[in-house]
Formats: sequence, C-alpha cells, structure tokens
Amino acid sequence: MRLTRRVFNDLAIWMIGVGVVIGVVFPPMLVVFGVPREIAITPFFFAVCLLAGMVVGGINILLTRVVVMPRLRALVDGMRLVETVVEEAAFTGDWSRCDPKSCELPVDSDDVIGESAAAFNRLIIALKYSHDVEDSVAEFTKTMTSQLELEPLCDGALRGFMSATNATAGAILGDVGGELSALASFGIVETAGLCENDYVRLALQTQEPIYVELPEGLSVQAGLVEFQPREVAFLPLSVQSVATGVVVLAGSVAFERESRPLSQIFARTFVMALANAMTHDDLQRIAALDPLTNCYNRRFGFVRLHEEFTRAERGDLLLGVILFDIDHFKLVNDTYGHLVGDRVLASVAQEAKQHLREGDVLVRYGGEEFVCILPGASMDATKEVSERIRHAVEELVVQDRNQAIRCTVSLGYTSFPATPAEDETGLIKIVDDALYRAKESGRNCSIKGLG
Ligand code: GH3
Ligand code: MG
Ligand code: MG
Repeated sequence: MRLTRRVFNDLAIWMIGVGVVIGVVFPPMLVVFGVPREIAITPFFFAVCLLAGMVVGGINILLTRVVVMPRLRALVDGMRLVETVVEEAAFTGDWSRCDPKSCELPVDSDDVIGESAAAFNRLIIALKYSHDVEDSVAEFTKTMTSQLELEPLCDGALRGFMSATNATAGAILGDVGGELSALASFGIVETAGLCENDYVRLALQTQEPIYVELPEGLSVQAGLVEFQPREVAFLPLSVQSVATGVVVLAGSVAFERESRPLSQIFARTFVMALANAMTHDDLQRIAALDPLTNCYNRRFGFVRLHEEFTRAERGDLLLGVILFDIDHFKLVNDTYGHLVGDRVLASVAQEAKQHLREGDVLVRYGGEEFVCILPGASMDATKEVSERIRHAVEELVVQDRNQAIRCTVSLGYTSFPATPAEDETGLIKIVDDALYRAKESGRNCSIKGLG
C-alpha cells in the first residue's frame, strides 16, 4: 500500500504508525495480563509507551536506511555507471570499460537484493556478449563487403567462420559451373571427398544446418581431417531458396552453443558476398575471353603480356613468345564456309592450348593469329613448344560431314632476354617479322625471331 512517492518515507510512516499503535495497545494489554489499572492506565504510562513505540519505529527506520539503502544505492550506482559507459562506447566504439568483471556488483545475500545484484551481473554479461556478437558480425560484414575477388573473399570468410566457432578445420564448398568444388579449405585432407559427403548433400537438399556430434573415440569421417573431430557443422549457403554451397567446420572439441546462431548469421552475409563475387568473376572472365576460341582476347592478352614482360625484365626471368597464323585460312572459309572456318579456328586454338603449361597464356591476337606467352621459357623451350603446336595442328582433323579438313600453321618465336627488346611491343614485332619469314619460306614451319 503506497502512501507517498518515496518507499523509505512510506516505510517510516508505517513504522512510526506501528510504534504508535503498540504504544496505545500496550497499557490495556498489561491490564489483561493482571497489572493493576491504576499503574497501567495512567497518562504518564501511556505517554511513555507511545514514546517507546515511536523510538522503536525510528530505530527500525534508521536500521533499514543503514542496512538496505547502501545496497540499493550500489545497485543504482552500478546501473548508472554501465549506462554512462554504454552511452559513451556507442559513440567512441571503445567498449573496454564495459568489461563485466569491472562493472559487476557483489552478490552477498540470498534474498531479493542479492538476486537483483546477480540479475544485474547477468545483464551486463549478456550486454557484453550481445556487443561481441555485433562486433564480430560487423567485422565479418566489413571483410565480406571489401572484397570482390572470389579467392580472397572465400579465404577471409573461412577464417571468420573458424574463429566464430573455434573450429580447427573447415572448407567452403561452392557450386562452380554446376559442380561442387572447394572454394577455400583449411586443415581438410581431401576436399574432393568432402564434396561427395552425405551430410554435405543433405545440407544442400534440406537447406538446413546440420551439426554432427561425434562421441569420443568414434572414428567417423576418417581421412577428412588430420585430427579426430568431436563436432562437424554443415551450413548450407542458399540464395533465393537455391542452395549454392556448404560451409563445413570441424572442431576438435564440440562447438559452443552460442556459436551456432552466429555462424548462421555469417552464412547469410557470406552467401550474398559470394553471389556478388561469382558474378564479378563471370563478368571478368567474359570480358577477358574471346567467345569463339575461349582464349584470352587481344585487350586482356596485352595486359598479361605487359605484366609478364615487366616481371621478366625486373626479375631477370625468361619469357618466351610465339606468334602463329593459320595457313591459307581464307581458302578454308571459301571452300567450306565461314561456320566451318569458325570450327577449324576453335579446334586449332584448343589444340594449341593442350601444348601449353599451366601459367602459359594463349591469346587470340587477330582473326586467325594467336600469341602464346610462355613465362620462364628459354629459346630452346619456346622453339620446342612452337614445333609441338605446329605438329599437333598438322595432325589435327576437323570433320565436316564426310569431309576431313586439315590445316597447318606458320610460327614465329623468340625468348627474352636472349633476344633483347625494349618492351612487349618490341617482342611482338620480332615474332611478327619471324612469322612473315615463315610464311615466305613456304609456311608450316617455325622461325626464330631475332632482335
Ligand atoms: P596466310 O597463309 O598468308 O595466312 O593466308 P590466309 O588466307 O590465312 O591469310 P589472310 O590474312 O589473307 O586471311 C585470313 C582469313 O581469316 C581472312 C578472314 O576472313 C579469316 N578470318 C578471320 N577471322 C575469322 C573468324 O573469326 N572466323 C572465320 N571463319 N574466318 C576468319
Ligand atoms: Mg593466315
Ligand atoms: Mg592472318
């Protein structure tokens, strides 16, 4: 029952009131217990009892203020401190003062005040946790939005997933050209096997995260990781209800329960960044490739040639270059038509690619002319590749209905720095001259370009 706006004032009124009531009731009670009326029912005795009741009431108020008030005050002060700190941190971004240890209140009683202090302490732990989650989501989102290239994006995402869950190994599997393949992995022994994993398929089908807890000593997923996992998470990556990949995380200890919702938030952020990066990757590939032959186009090819020349020049490295042109290609077009000519052109490019190493680049330089960029290739190695291409094209047969179409190529080759050149254009001029000489000397041959 409230009398004023202040609880302690109410308490004071109630305590003094009770004191007064006791002071009034006490003398008649003494009569009931046999004390003579002339002693108990006198104005003096009434006054003494009233005074005593009020004094006891007053002492109670004092005790309440001394015992209860400081504890409530500490609770209020603690809350005010946290309020100020949170307000400041929201603007400065410095949450170090919000440490639950430094803000916590002592819990030294098993009553409602102790419970309030404990609830307050739990509240600041929850506040800190919520802020930590917000922080890691912000950090993860920042990484995801600052990167458009597929490889570093997936590497950054995997690091984020692993640190959020404390996983020891993990992989990001994504749909590339209709096939699931590893876009990033850490600590996984065999990623190809992982793409075939039943749980990976199930996560893709159901589009629901799957957590597999493995009892100690049970050897499942053997060969997947280098240690015995205690828990493996399979988090599907879905865009507009289409599953496009799965994040696999393996922990040598079971994941903390709180890390599950966090990793699912990460998955939702990552999938959007992944879709963007894949579109970017496709666009870049489309912009760099010649659609007929699937070789690099001239524009992109020249950028690569410039990069490789600069690298060779600075690092004292070798750089082989071959320029080749299909012999009498006009005749092929005139005899079999342009569409067949296109097929022959694409087949020659395909054949030439087969004879290049990884890291070599084939560029469609013009109509039926191609440039091979061979980083690290000496003059002899370049000549060898040149001859291999020549022989392979010579052997190539393109079938058109009942007709077998054959063609040959003429090639000019050189290698830097054996043949010195000012820049990449100088190198191209050298092989162009050599190609011209190859045509002059009867075609279907390789001629070395000289500076
Ligand atoms: P050479 O042995 O001297 O190189 O004779 P050539 O007939 O190959 O030389 P030329 O440069 O006179 O002819 C090249 C031909 O390649 C002319 C052009 O129509 C054809 N060509 C260029 N690009 C394409 C293409 O994309 N598709 C088809 N089908 N033909 C092309
Ligand atoms: Mg030609
Ligand atoms: Mg030509």
